Amino acid sequence: MLDLAMRTAFTDDHNAFRDTVRKVFDKELIPNLDKFEDEGIVSRDFWRACGDAGLLCPTVPEQYGGLGLDFGYNAVVGEELSYAGSSAGITLQSDIVADYIVAYGSEEQKAKYLPKMISGEIITAIAMTEPGAGSDLQGVRTTARKDGNHYVISGSKTYITNGQNADLIIVVAKTDPDKGAKGTSLILVDAGTEGFARGRNLDKIGQNSADTSELFFNDVRVPMTNCLGEENKGFIYLMSQLPQERLGIAIGAQAGAQRAFDEAVKFTKDRKAFGKTVFDFQNTRFTLAGIKTELQVGWAHIDWALKRLLAGELTAAEASAAKLWHTEMQGRVVDAALQLHGGAGYMNEYPIARLWRDARVQRIYGGTSEIMKEVVARTI
Ligand SMILES: Cc1cc2nc3c(=O)[nH]c(=O)nc-3n(C[C@H](O)[C@H](O)[C@H](O)COP(=O)(O)OP(=O)(O)OC[C@H]3O[C@@H](n4cnc5c(N)ncnc54)[C@H](O)[C@@H]3O)c2cc1C
Repeated sequence: MLDLAMRTAFTDDHNAFRDTVRKVFDKELIPNLDKFEDEGIVSRDFWRACGDAGLLCPTVPEQYGGLGLDFGYNAVVGEELSYAGSSAGITLQSDIVADYIVAYGSEEQKAKYLPKMISGEIITAIAMTEPGAGSDLQGVRTTARKDGNHYVISGSKTYITNGQNADLIIVVAKTDPDKGAKGTSLILVDAGTEGFARGRNLDKIGQNSADTSELFFNDVRVPMTNCLGEENKGFIYLMSQLPQERLGIAIGAQAGAQRAFDEAVKFTKDRKAFGKTVFDFQNTRFTLAGIKTELQVGWAHIDWALKRLLAGELTAAEASAAKLWHTEMQGRVVDAALQLHGGAGYMNEYPIARLWRDARVQRIYGGTSEIMKEVVARTI
């Protein structure tokens, strides 16, 4: 269990909420972890259970059926989810998609989607990446051509989290292709719209319970009222939301690293070799001491960054630095923790195997480590 004794970002209310999250995950998530991994998708029942317990989209204002809480509550869910060793895409809905709709959506869009996102009745995705454009988002080639009072969307997206489950997708498309980034818009597409098709659930090396897909838009007609916020402002919106997304990934990375450490401590204190426990070797104790030190520094930094985000002060470069450091640290920690398990670490029956596999992509999605360095370097 995550130790809260030294945490500074959370109030008693956050802590009470955390108790609820733990209870829901103990009942609805942990017993199903392997099933979700085997099936390559998280069940809708789990989404509904999270919705029923108030775990989804906690920041949505009360007038749209939400709890009107701060991002600290999202952080609690993200930490507990990662510590549980799950890659379920609920944080994408709560931390990213809901915020876009709250920040930029029309009253009609908010009333239509937010209550169902909160209840877990609908599942959402955000589709930026394309086969030819990932880090270089300005190179998006999906277009939304105007036809009367409709857009006609053509193009394809890939690596989209919640792609199989999604009922609603925020699609990044060019409404004015000649203007590059300044011609980019965010358009809401209901999955039932004609011309929309999903590719297969992609076969990944980790995060197997997070369904990840290609999405195809073959002349998908949607009313122009489906534009999220103002036309051609999409790139600005993406840039302003990325810090929260990146801090969310950093938070998950920190909690995942903590779980890997806890697993390594438990395993090495139990495992015997050369007449003593593996924990008794100086190499093990020094390795664990090094990790414990990184975790202590890491939690202090997470709380600092979270408090700055809550105060509206966290900069894009600070969020990128947080994603860079915590995900790289997670990579080092899961690898060292697996090594301390010996052969057992390579067996899927031990949690460390999944923690190790799932960690790898953290340095890639939401902006690669190299792109994070670019963002930080621009401020030097
Ligand atoms: C499991 C998973 C889930 C994902 N979920 C989503 C999602 O829900 N929605 C979504 O839109 N996308 C999603 N993505 C896509 C993800 O955000 C991109 O894969 C990521 O941004 C990298 O883009 P790319 O794959 O095109 O790599 P590329 O941009 O082709 O990068 C290849 C390599 O070149 C490096 N590179 C690129 N540009 C530079 C540069 N300027 N300087 C130095 N090095 C550079 C990169 O760091 C990397 O090492 C997901 C990806 C994965 C794997």
